[in-house]
Amino acid sequence: MTFPSSVSPRLWSSEEESFDRVLAICAHPDDVDFGCAATVATMRRAGAAVRYCIITDGEAGGDDRAMSRGQMAEIRRGEQLAAAAAVGVSEVTFLGYPDGRVSATLELRRDLSRVVREFRPDLVIAPSPERNWNVIFASHPDHLAAGEAAVDAVYPDSRNPFAHPELLEEGLEPHTVRALWLMAAPAANLAVDVTEAFEGKLAALSCHRSQGTDDPGLRDRLATRAGGAATSAGLAEGRLAELFWAVGTG
Ligand SMILES: [Zn+2]
Repeated sequence: MTFPSSVSPRLWSSEEESFDRVLAICAHPDDVDFGCAATVATMRRAGAAVRYCIITDGEAGGDDRAMSRGQMAEIRRGEQLAAAAAVGVSEVTFLGYPDGRVSATLELRRDLSRVVREFRPDLVIAPSPERNWNVIFASHPDHLAAGEAAVDAVYPDSRNPFAHPELLEEGLEPHTVRALWLMAAPAANLAVDVTEAFEGKLAALSCHRSQGTDDPGLRDRLATRAGGAATSAGLAEGRLAELFWAVGTG
């Protein structure tokens, strides 16, 4: 593991570091809602434009073998659009890669770089490419690969005019992303106080019914985890937070 394990997360402050354009990159529908929907809701309230880029349609999700995978993909895209709307996000790009088979290929790096150059975010939120050994679910191989490709798209591909030259031919000029926040990393160095936005996260998550997110116990588990995250950042009892590993890109 290359992450230091004994870092206390600093608290993000919109006065010190504000973002006008935020792009969240994830492997599956629902990842963004588990990982950062309350942060997204916080950013939207502060006036930021937010776009989601979802690499797969999540058609390998659920356990109903009678349902066609095409049908599942359609359901999950619809659930993600509803979840996005619950936190004020209307821009969602689906790349349509096969669920369960994501690799950090040059093709994926190019497709993510295309979205970055089109949307021109100052903050990108993406899954950690490094495994979190505390919990197995966070580090689905698609998440790790999505994280690897997203980090590569942030640096160097989006800013390098000679990376993926077809993007220049499409009229997409290079763009430098100012900040990169990783979700579900082995350690956290940044906390966002999401207490006021937490209901929005729960509303977004409840849209992913095909994945059982209407489980009543989920709300309590997420609140407990967010409470622990807040405590780790020195916030008062009763506050809630989402954690990230923030990477400087300058
Ligand atoms: Zn996932």
